[in-house]
Amino acid sequence: MNIDSKFWIVRHYGAYRETIWSKLFPDIRFLNHPLYRAIIEYVLDKKAPLFFTVQNNEERMAFTTPYNIIGIPERVGKYANDTYFSLTCMHEFIHNLFSYPRHVAGLTSRDFDEQMMRCEAVASNATEVLIYYDFDDLREQTRELLPVIWFDILYERLQMKNRPSVSQLLDIRQDWLRSNAYDWLYCSEEKYKPVAQFMARWRNGNEVYWHKRLAKLRKLLELEGITTETLNPLTYEYEVRRYDNARRSLPNQSDYEALQLAHVRALYGLKDDSENAPSTFDELCERTSELDTIQVVFPE
Ligand SMILES: [Zn+2]
Repeated sequence: MNIDSKFWIVRHYGAYRETIWSKLFPDIRFLNHPLYRAIIEYVLDKKAPLFFTVQNNEERMAFTTPYNIIGIPERVGKYANDTYFSLTCMHEFIHNLFSYPRHVAGLTSRDFDEQMMRCEAVASNATEVLIYYDFDDLREQTRELLPVIWFDILYERLQMKNRPSVSQLLDIRQDWLRSNAYDWLYCSEEKYKPVAQFMARWRNGNEVYWHKRLAKLRKLLELEGITTETLNPLTYEYEVRRYDNARRSLPNQSDYEALQLAHVRALYGLKDDSENAPSTFDELCERTSELDTIQVVFPE
């Protein structure tokens, strides 16, 4: 792989896996923890996402992870910090467990919104639980770069000293997102205001966002015939742990090539440029430098 390339196209699965392990998790606690290690293996083996270096804020906000196209920030500023960078990558991997639902053609917009909101909420929860409970002192180690997170409020005001279950935390977050039922928890304190504003933004503005996604996804699925694996947000911990405990079944090289090609074709589809997409993995490898000019966009 040419590491100067924007898109990290690697010819062989073994080398791809090694590259991702060494590049994305400089804080090796993530690679050594049974749950997070299993998530990394699951994502790489089952989905072989397409990784790229994010070049501007629009690309970061395009939020293409559920399309299996994962933007990785450059290691400057706060991302120069090994722990913060690894945590950011881990968060993307957790998002990627929940791809867009299968059989999207039959879904109503409301069902789609509902499912996606759940997946978003669970990925956010998982990351905050990780920060609080799964590595010693991680909250303290990230406090300078992440001064206030949602879970601070729960930890301090609700005294959640034990690791909450996925369902329990999802209930709280969904109630919070849907209503102002929990406003009393943060309204009194100035330091929680940024979190309150962030939550309110989700509460008010998500519909257009998801509807655009659904419309685009329907077109993409028609064009590409992609089927995306997605885990149940309530049972993902069990599923990925089971995957790691069982003997991992490494994807064979042709599965890997098919996945990478499908993701690149989805990328062209996102830009309404499917006719120009590479049609084989070999062609993709030959045209890598051309990919460098692609700007990753939010679906219109
Ligand atoms: Zn996120």
